[in-house]
Amino acid sequence: MTVDFTVTRNTNPTSPERRAEILADPGFGKHFTDHMVRIDWHGDHVDSGEWSNAQVLPYGPLSLDPAASVFHYGQEIFEGIKAYRQADGSITTFRPEENAARLNKSAQRLVLPELPEDLFTEAIRQLVSIDADWVPSGDGESLYLRPFMISTEAFLGIRPAHEVSFFVIASPAGNYFGTPKPVDIWLSTNYARAGVGGTGEAKCGGNYAASLAAQLEGEANGCKQVIFKDPNRDDAIEELGGMNVFFVFADGKIVTPELTGTILRGITRKSIIKLAQERGHTVEERRFTLEEWRQGVASGEITEIFACGTAAVITPVGKLKAADFEISSPSGEDGGAVTMALREELVGMQTGKVEDRFGWNV
Ligand code: PMP
Repeated sequence: MTVDFTVTRNTNPTSPERRAEILADPGFGKHFTDHMVRIDWHGDHVDSGEWSNAQVLPYGPLSLDPAASVFHYGQEIFEGIKAYRQADGSITTFRPEENAARLNKSAQRLVLPELPEDLFTEAIRQLVSIDADWVPSGDGESLYLRPFMISTEAFLGIRPAHEVSFFVIASPAGNYFGTPKPVDIWLSTNYARAGVGGTGEAKCGGNYAASLAAQLEGEANGCKQVIFKDPNRDDAIEELGGMNVFFVFADGKIVTPELTGTILRGITRKSIIKLAQERGHTVEERRFTLEEWRQGVASGEITEIFACGTAAVITPVGKLKAADFEISSPSGEDGGAVTMALREELVGMQTGKVEDRFGWNV
């Protein structure tokens, strides 16, 4: 599919001085670049409509009818992907076709139109090209890209919208390198983020809205992150609010919860499975229970636990805290050797310091 993008340059872009100030300490998700991408869709049915009006335009507020269905029925999906500055000055993204495919899986679940994969990657290429000066070059820094799709039709009947728009915005992200300290996590037992037949596998805003109460509960108990169990399968561990989880055993085995339809199909997760297998680890994707966690840490069989996702790459997990019990941290303050080796290799690949043997950088 070829779609020509109309480009309207921002006539009032951020000054180079201000941009340098922002890039010196970008944090995460706080500052946005000078442009965004928008592509509109119209159709009576998700399978028969048409994408048109592809544009690169100045970053700025959207004008939407108050009756736009996204405000009422939450037809919204999104993605998260980073652009990295390579040593030779070029800019790459990591496995963008995986994000394109996942967006379309989410679209199917929320009855939004699928976006052709090449249109997704072209949208990202357009935005990164025009805002290339916003891609930082410091160690561990990146430009975080946020593609998202919303239903814009002004209609209050409950049915899939006939008008939809896709956008990409971009936000510089700071250094996640160095030795991250293990984070303690809170076990959510009062709240679930997903259930069988629900939208857990889709990357839709509602899942994150549903996780916020648990997040607050975790924070009130001294934990920055929350982990969810599958409410339909007793004490099977699922994932964190925004990351997948892995358990490293003393014998070199690595276990991660299987994809049951209620867990997000993390691209970092998929990449780590491949890298770990290459390094000689046996990786098991299976049901993993709270009891196994408890016993494995107590017996010393579980030696490391880590969480992973695009934003923070790999974060060591420390203690698990719950309302009426605690499981101690299996690893020391440095997070563990396997965790750190995988982190270094993955980050190295993304930034060109380790050979891209699988052609993951685009
Ligand atoms: N689980 C959830 C719920 C997430 O939001 C994310 C972040 N996208 C992940 C896992 C990790 O996915 P990825 O590695 O593709 O960023």
